[in-house]
Amino acid sequence: MRKTIVAGNWKMNGTSESIRDLLAGLTAGAKDSAGVITLVCPPAVYISQVKQWLGSAPISVGAQNVCEQPKGAFTGENSLAMLQDLGCEYVILGHSERRSLFGETDLLVAEKFAAAKEAGIVPVLCVGETLGQREAGQTIEVVGAQVAAVIDRVGINGLSDAVIAYEPVWAIGTGLTATPEQAQEVHAAIRKQLAQNDEVIAEQLSILYGGSMNAGNAAELLAQTDIDGGLIGGASLKADEFLTICAAAADSRK
Ligand code: PEP
Repeated sequence: MRKTIVAGNWKMNGTSESIRDLLAGLTAGAKDSAGVITLVCPPAVYISQVKQWLGSAPISVGAQNVCEQPKGAFTGENSLAMLQDLGCEYVILGHSERRSLFGETDLLVAEKFAAAKEAGIVPVLCVGETLGQREAGQTIEVVGAQVAAVIDRVGINGLSDAVIAYEPVWAIGTGLTATPEQAQEVHAAIRKQLAQNDEVIAEQLSILYGGSMNAGNAAELLAQTDIDGGLIGGASLKADEFLTICAAAADSRK
């Protein structure tokens, strides 16, 4: 059975004080459920502190982005070696905000993916269509091209043990959520695309849904055959809500 992953993308939110409160809530309620990985992705400057505060709680830590270069004159960037140094196990790559606000292309995201694999940090590759692309009937084509750029760069074997997050851009931070059927359709298409290259990798790869997932809609989304967890923004900043989603993820495996 594939791993179920509930990942919180805190984006550029929080202070030491608010993060400490959030972690107190999370660690008080976090359960070690077989096959379910709970992951938090704080702003990079807090990763070290978050690791320390989490202690032995069953919660993994990831970064929200990384530079594809190993080191050098790249002001403001963080390298994979730095993330390794902090004990980061995962890194979100190609989030739609990175693509739209910071000009990250499919090719750059594929470079980052290759570098993360090389470093042994699990890439969480974000893909998704804009509203205009969905309305133009281009969803599968756009998402397929985003996935293909990574396969072209690392080969299908490079996707073993990786994670993909399908995040329709129009659903991120908007309160609009893809219906379970809309999400399942795209997840199944991604898995089919992977299977055309390698059926075993396609079957074992976890594909998360992201886009206004919350305590109220998580169970229905997670019940879909090809939805193996969630990448959660806003709702990951509230301990109770995030823990409810984690509980729904554990239930979805029963
Ligand atoms: C995200 O940032 O990846 C995300 C899905 O955000 P939200 O849950 O707030 O839509």
